[in-house]
Amino acid sequence: MAPKKGKASPPAPAPEPAVDPDAPPPPEPVPPVTVIYCEVCTYPPEYCEFGASLTKCKDWLKEEHSDLFDKYYSDEALQTKVGTLSLEAQAKLEKDMAKKEVKAEAKADAALKKKMASQIIIKRIERNKRKHITSVFGLEAFGIDLKKASKQFSSKFATGSSVTKNPQGLEEIVVSGDVSDEILEMIENEVGVLKGIPADNVELVEEKKKKGGD
Ligand SMILES: [Zn+2]
Repeated sequence: MAPKKGKASPPAPAPEPAVDPDAPPPPEPVPPVTVIYCEVCTYPPEYCEFGASLTKCKDWLKEEHSDLFDKYYSDEALQTKVGTLSLEAQAKLEKDMAKKEVKAEAKADAALKKKMASQIIIKRIERNKRKHITSVFGLEAFGIDLKKASKQFSSKFATGSSVTKNPQGLEEIVVSGDVSDEILEMIENEVGVLKGIPADNVELVEEKKKKGGD
């Protein structure tokens, strides 16, 4: 049995908090971030430009927070901004240009269609060595009734004449025989229903039979 020591050792003293005089003072609670609001427009200064009082806002900011003023309105800051704006402007410009181009194309297209529509084409078409037909396209653009005109051709030339659809799905008059010169003359002389067509709008065309397709 081990001899028991008669003296009980005193309890170790609780360590006192070490106070190091060199230690930095405990951190104080972080103060909330101060948000600066413009006194003029009440927005944060970076949004002043969206208010209606930018000039006054800038004066105020320069006076009260010159650092922020430099941040937002220094030459450098403005330079960056101008760069951005010009990029935006450029994008907008390109968009506008594209729009204008599409518009111009559509306009040219419409003008061409209108011109085509108002052009009268008298076509002499060779069917075979002896037979021709004559097609007249575009009379309706001048307000001429195609059926009446067809009838007029039929009785004038004592031949067949009818209103038919061409391969493009547009109506034209097809007259039997080669009467293209006569029809042109009738248009020039404004015979019957063929009134009000400027001679410049009439074109005589010849369509030869394709080779080898007898
Ligand atoms: Zn402001």
